[in-house]
Amino acid sequence: MADITRRTVLLAVAAASAASLTGCEQPDVVQAAPATSPPMPARVPVPPGTLTELPPASGSVMAWTVDDGTSSEVVGAYSTFAAATGTRLTMFVNGIYSSWDENAEALRPLVASGQVQLANHTWSHPDLTTLDDASIQAELQRNHDYLAERYGVDARPYFRPPYGAHDDRVDAAAAAIGYTTPTLWYGSLADSGELPDQQIVDLANEWFASGRIIIGHLNHLPVTRVFDQLIDILETRALTTVTLNDVFISAAHP
Ligand SMILES: [Zn+2]
Repeated sequence: MADITRRTVLLAVAAASAASLTGCEQPDVVQAAPATSPPMPARVPVPPGTLTELPPASGSVMAWTVDDGTSSEVVGAYSTFAAATGTRLTMFVNGIYSSWDENAEALRPLVASGQVQLANHTWSHPDLTTLDDASIQAELQRNHDYLAERYGVDARPYFRPPYGAHDDRVDAAAAAIGYTTPTLWYGSLADSGELPDQQIVDLANEWFASGRIIIGHLNHLPVTRVFDQLIDILETRALTTVTLNDVFISAAHP
């Protein structure tokens, strides 16, 4: 049964890729292809402080998060991959990159259904510890407003400080405008720069595990060439992907 499911997923990915190459509408099979209907854990209130892991009682779930979006092609490929496989993703957006406008049509239904969650990575990716409080808030608020207007979502309370750089002052400035949850990660695909394909697979093998928040990037193509191997790792380990809103209750997402 698992093998049949996997073949279906791979065929769906192939079909979706072919469709995007030819500019055709995605075939119905892609819409119907989510690998499983995962049992979702009971949601719990988001804990105070910095987030790097999921609640201990979440079960066999992993939060796959992806950042930036410097490559429109990679944002598009991740969107196709999500649609074809049912993989749940949290995207930490920098609205300054044109990829978020260019892929809005493909992403919007995934965002509307909750399969893809959009969260705040600041507008232009500065090191927040170098900015004054007003500038920290302006960076987050501009991105917040962009996501609300373009995608109709409230990205609060999750923000990921660029480079993981934050301190008590940054956190207080962010919290004052509703971004109360600095969201870091437990393991990384380390692909903010370009890596060899196999190294991404090796890092996924090292880090994909239950309860973890994993960070990847929407910047370089190698990850898009190993999606099937990453899905393999998830399936072998019986991991279900979740968004942050899938597992946490917050004021913006009760
Ligand atoms: Zn980043």
